[in-house]
Amino acid sequence: MKWQSAIGFALLALALGGSWLGAQDQKAVVILAGQLFDGKSDRLLSNQVIVIRGDRIAEVGPAGTITIPAGAQEIDLRMATVLPGLIEAHNHMFKIGDHPGAGADASVPLVIQPGTPFSTPYATLLASVNARLDLESGFTTARDLSSGGTADVDLRNAINEGIIPGPRMLVATEGLRGSIAGPRYFHLVDSPYEGRKQVRIQLKNGADFIKIYAAGIRANPDLGYGAPTMTPEEEHAIVDEAHRQGVRVACTAHAGVAVRQSIQAGCDSLELVTDIDAESIRMVVEKGIFMTFGLTITKIQAKSQNFPMAELSKASFQRALKAGVKIAFSVNATGAHGKQAGPYHGEEAVEFATMVEYGMTPLQAIRSATSVGAENIGWKDRVGSIEKGKFADFIAASGNPANDVTELERVKFVMKGGQIVRNDLTGSRSNLGRR
Ligand SMILES: [Zn+2]
Repeated sequence: MKWQSAIGFALLALALGGSWLGAQDQKAVVILAGQLFDGKSDRLLSNQVIVIRGDRIAEVGPAGTITIPAGAQEIDLRMATVLPGLIEAHNHMFKIGDHPGAGADASVPLVIQPGTPFSTPYATLLASVNARLDLESGFTTARDLSSGGTADVDLRNAINEGIIPGPRMLVATEGLRGSIAGPRYFHLVDSPYEGRKQVRIQLKNGADFIKIYAAGIRANPDLGYGAPTMTPEEEHAIVDEAHRQGVRVACTAHAGVAVRQSIQAGCDSLELVTDIDAESIRMVVEKGIFMTFGLTITKIQAKSQNFPMAELSKASFQRALKAGVKIAFSVNATGAHGKQAGPYHGEEAVEFATMVEYGMTPLQAIRSATSVGAENIGWKDRVGSIEKGKFADFIAASGNPANDVTELERVKFVMKGGQIVRNDLTGSRSNLGRR
């Protein structure tokens, strides 16, 4: 046993030394930034230099204080504002549309157009397109809140292996839901024991976190607005098991009892909240729970509903903002073939303008998709800010997003892990997706 661990240590030391030497050998890439937002602070810095080695940030600081390595490739973004790659906290890469009755159980095929069934492999092809659209529009990290069964694991892995372009992904595999019919990518849980078992199964299948669909009824008070899909015992058992296994739990809880129950169950984030009362907000702040809203999609969907969804959502967002809740950027984007009217994948940045319209400063809104967004997904050690040691994930806009946040709808430069995804500022194009 003893000499086995000694060999283990020797191999580990060799591996660490080897990768360190490898990083030193790699040709450095240098970004010259006219303005820079580091993802954390409340102001922009001017005239900054970022040195990248491999997929990580090696140095960052004011021009003149940073030594530019000999032979480094220079990327001139002196006419632009450089920011961390954006993080979306709540999306669905496989969501093709919410056609009525689409895939209520696994024996019924999902439907894109009436009468046009499609399979999981077909949905996966479309998801790969959504992933590319998200990345090219500046989202270098995305959390998929369950949409493809376990195919989201394959999508994440194919991106990580460099087979297809896309954001770094965290996936939920099957969402857990109480016994109310829902799309087939959910697993129905009908007891606390089943909840614990399903957490173990999802993690074995490759989930990075657990998703609970706590609130089934979103918009119809006659059917019990905010009625939870599961009992407090079931929800608590799922959260407890997930935390025991060291993963976070994201709970979709739109309103009322489902929101309060999810707070009490210990969820790490409340997803797509549309109506939350002051006492629940107080509990959210006290427990350090994150919240996501999806303000734009709620506004769009409200137009076709006989219910003041948009007003409730706006008031809830403002209540949370005023109380100091950690709000993470989320869109809940839908696929381009759905019946919803967007925002679609690749258009997610429109949410920034809605957040600002409802009272955030532009930099607050941007932080929700950078440092706050990273903390929400448990990745603040690797993404969400421009700091030494973090992944070299950046975007650049030609204007100043701190004055006009809609500049993020027109991102001109995207880099993920030190690789250029797009560069409309100096004309060079990536070969991603053309291999
Ligand atoms: Zn969702």
